[in-house]
Amino acid sequence: MLRLASLGSGSKGNATLIASQDTVLLIDCGFPVREMMARLPRLGLEVTDIDAVLVTHEHSDHIAGVAALSKAASAPVYATYGTRQSGKLDSVRTVVEIESDSSFAVGDIDVRAITVPHDARQPVQYRFFHNSVAVGVLTDLGCVSPHVQEAFSGCDLLLLEFNHDLEMLRRGPYPAALKRRVAGDFGHLNNEQAMTMLVSMTDGTPKVVVAGHISEQNNSLEAVSALLDEWSRQVNAQVFYATQSQGFDWISPDAAALSVNVA
Ligand SMILES: [Zn+2]
Ligand SMILES: [Zn+2]
Repeated sequence: MLRLASLGSGSKGNATLIASQDTVLLIDCGFPVREMMARLPRLGLEVTDIDAVLVTHEHSDHIAGVAALSKAASAPVYATYGTRQSGKLDSVRTVVEIESDSSFAVGDIDVRAITVPHDARQPVQYRFFHNSVAVGVLTDLGCVSPHVQEAFSGCDLLLLEFNHDLEMLRRGPYPAALKRRVAGDFGHLNNEQAMTMLVSMTDGTPKVVVAGHISEQNNSLEAVSALLDEWSRQVNAQVFYATQSQGFDWISPDAAALSVNVA
């Protein structure tokens, strides 16, 4: 059974965990290692339980803590050539270089790295597969390309970026250049874009959706849930919300699907 959790999600730091019975993978680490040590027990984990760290891209909210964490965990780091060229992984002992849009296995979890439109050197996001269950982690992209739409369709559980409400971003405190970056095709997904992706899933709708990387300045839980609540009722899906300070506790698509059926 695959399960997904987060120790924090947003522009101040990200750390997502995916685990099978035998394998624990950390996706990104935007927190200092001592912060990770403090947060990991929430999920019943110690740092040495982490078997590998998968990096999506070199922005500091995803990579700042990777080198120190990988050392503390004695775990290899998986990253693309471009992410590695940022220099932020230079002190990591073991880097496994991965190709964009390639598949590989880490322990008993199959992983696919998927190219996303984002303003980093060679950004990818990940889709995981184990025992016929597919879990997608998709944040930090400016638009949903046909490639992304196809690559993440059919996920049982999807962590999806609901970064900003376009109107709140427009009226908000960010300088004009940053507003253009965030809203641009290589920035972050707004609520409408994320919803459009979900309703356009032709190959099966995810049974469980986690809204993540929600901006504290340019979005609100109310704005996101106004959209997701209605959708989830229509398709009988479960919705969770990742926060910057707490992330979210373990979620399993199997258990969630089971409880939906029982209800
Ligand atoms: Zn980010
Ligand atoms: Zn980013």
